[in-house]
Amino acid sequence: MKKLIMVKYGEIALKKQNRSYFINALTKNIKNALRDFDQVVCNQIQGRIVVENIEESDEIAVLDRLKKVFGIVSLTRAFEVDPNMETIKETALQIMKEKHHVTFKTEARRSDKSFPFTSPEIAKSVGAFVLIHTDDITVDVHHPDITLNIEIRKKAYIYYENIPCEAGMPIGVSGRGCLLLSGGIDSPVAGFMIARRGMKIEACHFHSYPYTSLEAKEKVIEIAQKLKEYNQGIQLHSISLTKIQEEILLKCDESYLTVILRRFMFRCAERLSEARGLQALITGESLGQVASQTIESITCTNDSVALPVLRPLIGMDKNEIVRHALHIDTYEISIQPFEDCCTIFLPKHPQIKPTLEKVIAQESKLDIEKLIEDAMTTLETIRL
Ligand code: ATP
Ligand code: MG
Repeated sequence: MKKLIMVKYGEIALKKQNRSYFINALTKNIKNALRDFDQVVCNQIQGRIVVENIEESDEIAVLDRLKKVFGIVSLTRAFEVDPNMETIKETALQIMKEKHHVTFKTEARRSDKSFPFTSPEIAKSVGAFVLIHTDDITVDVHHPDITLNIEIRKKAYIYYENIPCEAGMPIGVSGRGCLLLSGGIDSPVAGFMIARRGMKIEACHFHSYPYTSLEAKEKVIEIAQKLKEYNQGIQLHSISLTKIQEEILLKCDESYLTVILRRFMFRCAERLSEARGLQALITGESLGQVASQTIESITCTNDSVALPVLRPLIGMDKNEIVRHALHIDTYEISIQPFEDCCTIFLPKHPQIKPTLEKVIAQESKLDIEKLIEDAMTTLETIRL
């Protein structure tokens, strides 16, 4: 009898032609997530992935890592035994003997059709065996405390847990993107959501040092550390916007600062993406949340780049976003009060409904290309 963790995947199993590509990507990501546990082995079996050879003391840590691997729908600890009825019954009994005063039912699934019993026969006979050999366990087919599952494949698997996970798609199968990561609540959530669709993200943070503090930078590193766990590692790029900001304040109408600054952020992120082979920009914008997120402002920022801009939070309310931020454990970091480059020099009356024409007229007072090139020389990258 062998104890292991069984990984169930949902959506990716539906991909007919590319199925093995998706499952191989998931297997690779699982191995990567568990690389600190040298002895652990990860294998594909029909319809499932199994993780074996786990030290008892590592079990919880292994489960925690797996819960952050996108593409996994649920997990369970399972017993693997030889596929014969006697062994299956004994194992089922051993599991259920540790439970007291509970109701249960059995469910069986047979993907090895050469096994001499049908699924209902297996379920019934294992259930009866458990019932006969225990005193304080009863059957409830409608609302059981425990559903004991028996799966017959090359081996038999017996389990009762169902630990729900993130689902989504394995990191890497949807290309690579550039997350504009501020220190705020929204952008980490945006990164999480796009990564969950299989896009591996690199983060790009803009600072205005020395106007913004080093603590603000530390805060972004801390947030990126959280995202890294889901994203199979992460690169964090940072670029200084100080010069650009000073130029805008010097030469343009102050009320256009925010929208022009955002256009520069997008342009720098696009430059970075070209160099890194990233295929989209990702932001935490949510329609109407602040002045820079009206449809007019979004139209103006969008216009500055050719890359697609993904905005997974666009239709979400703040409380929904906060719920996600709590879930990915970035909320407490994000609410620490450090200045962001968007919040310094904030104009008293920012343009809420800027027109592209006027924005371009304001920008014509700047040497755009030179400003971008200079900003790109401040690029620093850390690999987390
Ligand atoms: P967040 O909570 O993500 O900071 P926000 O509600 O404060 O968002 P804005 O400041 O308008 O809204 O920023 C909108 C989006 O622009 C952010 O979600 C982020 O993707 C990007 N962004 C803003 N500031 C920065 C920055 N300093 N560095 C990188 N990206 C940024
Ligand atoms: Mg912000």
